[in-house]
Amino acid sequence: MASAVQTKTSESFVELKEKLEEAESKLRILMDNIPGGVLVYDADTGKILEVSDGCLSTFDCTEEQFRDHYYNNFDLFVMKEDRAKVKEQVAVQTQFFGVVELLYRVLDLNGNVVWISHKARLVDERDGRRVFYAVLSDVTNEQLVQKELAKRNRQLKEESERYALLEEATDNVTYDYDVVSDTLVSSLRDSRGNRRTTRDCVRGGYLPDVISKEDYPAFEKTMKQALKKPLKGVVEYRIYGEGGKDIWYRLNFASFEDESNQVYRIVGSAKDITLEKAERAALKAKVQLDPMTGLLNKTAMRSKVEEYLEQSDIGMCHALLMIDTDNFKSVNDRLGHQYGDKVIQFVASTIRDTFRDSDFVGRVGGDEFMVFMKHTTPSITEERAEKLNSQIRQTFTKEDISVSISCSIGISYFGADGEDYDSLYKTADEALYDAKNSGKNCYRTYGRKAGDA
Ligand code: GH3
Ligand code: MG
Repeated sequence: MASAVQTKTSESFVELKEKLEEAESKLRILMDNIPGGVLVYDADTGKILEVSDGCLSTFDCTEEQFRDHYYNNFDLFVMKEDRAKVKEQVAVQTQFFGVVELLYRVLDLNGNVVWISHKARLVDERDGRRVFYAVLSDVTNEQLVQKELAKRNRQLKEESERYALLEEATDNVTYDYDVVSDTLVSSLRDSRGNRRTTRDCVRGGYLPDVISKEDYPAFEKTMKQALKKPLKGVVEYRIYGEGGKDIWYRLNFASFEDESNQVYRIVGSAKDITLEKAERAALKAKVQLDPMTGLLNKTAMRSKVEEYLEQSDIGMCHALLMIDTDNFKSVNDRLGHQYGDKVIQFVASTIRDTFRDSDFVGRVGGDEFMVFMKHTTPSITEERAEKLNSQIRQTFTKEDISVSISCSIGISYFGADGEDYDSLYKTADEALYDAKNSGKNCYRTYGRKAGDA
């Protein structure tokens, strides 16, 4: 009986031992195959009890080297700078939870930083020890990515803050166009104070509605180039302003491409140059004028006539009139140079008043003037010439000295007498010579006789 009991006891002991051995080997297999590694250490002393193969391969060393390098102690395993933080977190977390989660750095055997994600369970062993079973994963790469991301975000934030400051410091309107989403964001604010955002900017045909139709083709051409490849440039255009007043803008822009050489973004800063344009136009007009009479000077006269003739078709009737004051030297000689100036101003304003505002009128010599009559007829031209002859015919008197002046006029017609400025000038000048030779105070037409229809 007694021996039967003993046999049963020894059998169950062997069975139990086998079971235990089997469980231990399963645990070992589990430990060695867990992603990352397993570290078992004493919760109070930090003494390392077990290191799995996964852990050793993370640190690329043998168990002996591992234990040796970290003085067989978990506390010394953690990098010095992170120890206090780890201690504090372990204390806090074990108070409330059975599981501890940590992120800390470890210096590997070559002195490189390894970021470790650490998940541990605190187990009370039978012998009274408290032991941590920790699963460790190397998250260095993830950490680097995170860090890089954070750095980029910081830079981006700094960049946009700088951008916003610059925006505030200038009156410029900034634009940021995202090619893929076809969205344009500008620094202009809507009624709620948000940046104005235009979706489907190109697809929805937003720009031709805003940019004046004279300037849109050039604008579109430039932007198409900027969408093809990275480009920096300047483009000027008008936008339709309130009350029919256009606003001129100068846009400095740059386009950027991604890794696959596709332009993905165009940024720009637009400045209101309406005033600048007006000042420039006024200055240009000023340098085109003869200071004494306010009429066009000889150079401006040539360029205006040439520009106009370029757009003219043969068959249109334009006339060029050369007008020279008769007997002008006598005014200077007998009434004085200053008086002569006044007489020139009189002749100039009389000519200006005789022709339409749209006709070009210039002073091309001392007492010599030119008129370009657009879309006229020979009868209207001759009627004007005759009127001018009668208006200029004047007698000026100063201190009992009287001098009479008149004017001689030579006329040439576009098409019949010349097709460009030089030939029209030459033929009108010849007609003027003819008028002078005919006794002055009259007009002559180059290819025609006065009075011809
Ligand atoms: P003609 O009848 O043949 O045209 O002779 P003219 O006396 O009018 O003399 P001409 O046209 O050959 O010369 C014009 C003169 O005008 C020459 C010059 O002394 C004078 N003159 C040129 N510019 C000015 C100016 O700005 N002010 C004044 N007072 N005289 C000028
Ligand atoms: Mg003269």
